[in-house]
Amino acid sequence: MKLLLHACCGPCSLEPVRKLQEAGHDITIYYANSNIAPADEYRRRYDTLMSWANEGHLAVIEGIYRPDDWEAAVHDAVCAHNREDRCRACYRLRFEQSAAFGAENGFEALGTTLSVSPYQYTDIIGEELTRAAQAAGLTPLFEDYRPFYDEATRRSREMGMYRQNWCGCRISAAEAAAEREERKAARAQAKAAWAAEHAAEIEAAKQAKQARKAERAAYDKKQQRKKAVLKQMREAAKTHQSDQA
Ligand code: SF4
Repeated sequence: MKLLLHACCGPCSLEPVRKLQEAGHDITIYYANSNIAPADEYRRRYDTLMSWANEGHLAVIEGIYRPDDWEAAVHDAVCAHNREDRCRACYRLRFEQSAAFGAENGFEALGTTLSVSPYQYTDIIGEELTRAAQAAGLTPLFEDYRPFYDEATRRSREMGMYRQNWCGCRISAAEAAAEREERKAARAQAKAAWAAEHAAEIEAAKQAKQARKAERAAYDKKQQRKKAVLKQMREAAKTHQSDQA
């Protein structure tokens, strides 16, 4: 099938492209991601995708980059602090742009790499991709690629690809930073709780160590005294022998 594959970045493209090539599809990647901010991050992800695609002789088309469109699309959900609705609106914008391009340029099907990430709303991606593809007269080619996420991570690390640690929009950058802080605080709290729970054992182990050290020092001292006495006795015996001679 002549497939237009919406892609969010290089690392997320690795496994879906491998699977779709194995299935015999004729793939063109479409990079339509007005959600990504700031612009130099958008460009960095695109360049990473391009350098990998060029090595594999894969066709890539850069879509529309209009951050204002994204702001308008997600406005209501952002005001309502509703992440799920925000992501739905974000998927919708990108898939609608991709589907329109696909329909105008003779593609038969529309797919996406977004569903490789376990951090996305997989069901909503499926719904929005299907809706956008069908409205444009294309076949939706949705697949849940999450089982291949670990392999995608391994391969992209091995290839030295740039790997971002937030989804893409300005809000997700702040959310990811807050989540990292929360995880860090939770780890510190767990460590402190463990130390409090095992305080008596830790103290007993410390005291046992000190006792072993003191015991060892007393033993060494005793051995030194013994050696000194033996030395004295040997010297006295030597003196006695030379007096008799
Ligand atoms: S978190 Fe990701 S999917 Fe959701 S709105 Fe932001 S960029 Fe789009």
